Order: sequence, then C-alpha cells, then structure tokens
Amino acid sequence: MSEHITAIKGFADLFSPESDTFTHMENVARDIFFRYGFTELRTPLLERTELFSRGIGTETDVVQKEMYTFPDRKGRSLTLRPEATAGVMRAYIESGRSGDAVTKLFTTGPMFRYERPQKGRMRQFHQINCECLGPAEPYADAEMITMAMRFLEALGIGNLTLQINSLGCPSCRPAYRDTLRRWLSTLDESALCEDCRRRMVTNPLRVLDCKVPSCKEHTADAPRILEHNCPDCAAHFDTVRRLLDAEKVPYVINHRLVRGLDYYTRTTFEIVSDAIGAQGTVAGGGRYDGLVAELGGGNVPGFGFACGMERLALLLPEREPVRPEFYVVVLTEAARETAYALTQTLRDAGFRGEMSFTPRSIKSAMRQAGRSRARFCLLIGEDELAAQSVMVKDMDSGEQTPVPLSEVAGRLN
Ligand SMILES: [Zn+2]
Ligand SMILES: [Zn+2]
Repeated sequence: MSEHITAIKGFADLFSPESDTFTHMENVARDIFFRYGFTELRTPLLERTELFSRGIGTETDVVQKEMYTFPDRKGRSLTLRPEATAGVMRAYIESGRSGDAVTKLFTTGPMFRYERPQKGRMRQFHQINCECLGPAEPYADAEMITMAMRFLEALGIGNLTLQINSLGCPSCRPAYRDTLRRWLSTLDESALCEDCRRRMVTNPLRVLDCKVPSCKEHTADAPRILEHNCPDCAAHFDTVRRLLDAEKVPYVINHRLVRGLDYYTRTTFEIVSDAIGAQGTVAGGGRYDGLVAELGGGNVPGFGFACGMERLALLLPEREPVRPEFYVVVLTEAARETAYALTQTLRDAGFRGEMSFTPRSIKSAMRQAGRSRARFCLLIGEDELAAQSVMVKDMDSGEQTPVPLSEVAGRLN
C-alpha cells in the first residue's frame, strides 16, 4: 500500500464554488480596471532573489523570514514572488516602457510567503495588484483610490471605510522623522514594546502602526506627519482630498497610516471593512515615487495598490453555480450515439449540459438529472429513437413533451 501524497501545508486546492468566487473577483476586476485604461500584465512566479531584497527592503519581515528562496541547479538564488510590485517594476523597466508618459498595469495571481497558516492567510495566496507609472499628479492618486473603491463596491462588499494619509517627500520627511524620534525618546522606557524600542532608532514611523495596544495608547499624541508636510506635499494632498470629495468617495484621515520604506511618498491609503472581525484591511496602497529608481529604472513616479483575494473571498456571499440548460439521459444502448450527437449539437448551439454515458433505469437516470440541476431533462429510449424524437421533461414543472430531434434546441430557449 502506498501512502496518499498530500498538498503542502498552507497550499490550498480550490474547487467550485470557491474557484468560481475567485474567477468572479478577477472578472469584476478586469471589467472595472479596463474602464480606467489598465492592461493586464502576467509576470513569472519565480524571480532572482535580489529583486525582492532591493524592491521590498532587506529589513522587512517578508525578506528576512517569509520568502521561499532556494538555489536553482546552477546555484543561483531564486525566490517565489512574495508580492507583485517588484516583478511588475522589473518587467516595466526591462521592456523599456519607462520612457512612456503613462503605463497602467494590473496583475492577478498567486504569491508565496512562509507564514503561519490561519483563516484567510495561506502560504500560497492570491492578490490583485494595480500600478500606475509615470504621472506625479494627485489626479493619479485620486483616480486609483476611486477605482479601488468602485471595484470593492462592484463586488458587493459593504461597510467599507477608506483611510488616507500623506507621508511627505524626501525634502520634508527626514525632519519629521527626527521630530518623531525626539518625541518618542521622551516616553517612559516601558511605554513601548521591544520591537518599537528598536524601530524608534531604525525606523520611527513604523512605531505609529504598531498593533500592540500599549504602544498605540502611548503614541496617541505623537506629532502628526500631515502637520509636517512641506507646502508642495500639502497642496498635493489637498487636491487628492478635493477630487475624492467631488466624486463622493468618503474617507477618514488616519495619522497612523505609514509605510516603512523610503520610496513611499505622499498619499497612502487603506480600505478596511468591519465585516471580517476587527476592521480587516481589504486593500491598501499608495504613491512610491522612489521605487522605479531603486530598481535602476530612472526617476519615474508611481502609484499602486494591492488586495488579497482570500480576504475578499471571506467577505463575498457564496456564488450560486450557473444552472445547466439540459441533461441527456440514455435509456437504451441503441440510443447512445444519437444522444451523444444531440448533446454535441446543443453545446454547439450555445447550451450548457451533459449526458449520462451509461444507459440506466429511468429512476436512477432521473436522480442523476436532478443532481445536475439542469432546467430540462432530455430522455431517449427505444420509442424515442424509433420516432427520431426526445422526451423533454421540464424539471421545474414536471411537464413532459415529445419533441422531434431537430427541434430540441429551439425548445430549450
Ligand atoms: Zn514634502
Ligand atoms: Zn510596539
């Protein structure tokens, strides 16, 4: 007896109706994003490890602890993509598109992180990502935030709150960072968690988004980055707000919405839904004017967002599978080929359905037809074969009518 081979922990098989939910999310995403001028990019799942250490930052948990990294047969270090943006940037730069005024790209697909699997978090998970490269204008920020909201609304996800903030730019953020670090150093030793005491020195902005309750409480009065934005950053943020107001996209300002890496600039946002427990983030993103340059592609501004599909799936109602139009039942061996030909003809005419390959008793055949949920059951036995007809049974009303073979398709409409 050989043992069953099982899937790897944290790697799920998606059968219908779960797979239908994922297809639906992708279809809605394509529909909405195409309206905004985005085109789809499919990048490889495997990239050089260096891409992620430069694109995500060597100090992050993702790069330090969570990547699937291994040498290939020639000893080169490769990594299964833990997020989409770095690969998109690589493809964008490599294809020579960084000379174009605007490039709008979206991707969907699996990402890989070695994390502890839990509800809504898998080691292979799926994301939808959008990147708008080229424009530095606040219009690009407002447009993508609005598009993200429209996408989630189109999926029917309720209780959404849009949170926004501005992280400033390389000319105003360093001064704020110093101000914040000085302010944090006046706190009592025990006020912050161990991670935050380290972050206070290396990356004080990250102290603001620490989830530890005592850290949150003790930093409630910390200096706010918006009040330290330079005039250009403040004007940019005002325009984003005005454009959101004009489109009636409601938002709240979250002063704790920060990102740790230097290439993030100005607008940052998250969309949370309180439908999954305590305020789950369903989408997030922002402006990253320094990222393309970080990856060697020149000074190209960018704005992007990502949302996790497993998270979204938790918020969506289960989808009713589409009902087939017909189910063909063969009652006698002699009718099998006629039934097979009819099944193909109906599919060619655009109907959805199948046939039972094995001739059966009428009782077991009707049970099968019932399980298929088809609208019509088409029975072919000896009598029908002789008359070149089909018994069409309406599965809802129970009504049965003999119909000539050549007229069945017309009857299904
Ligand atoms: Zn600034
Ligand atoms: Zn903390």
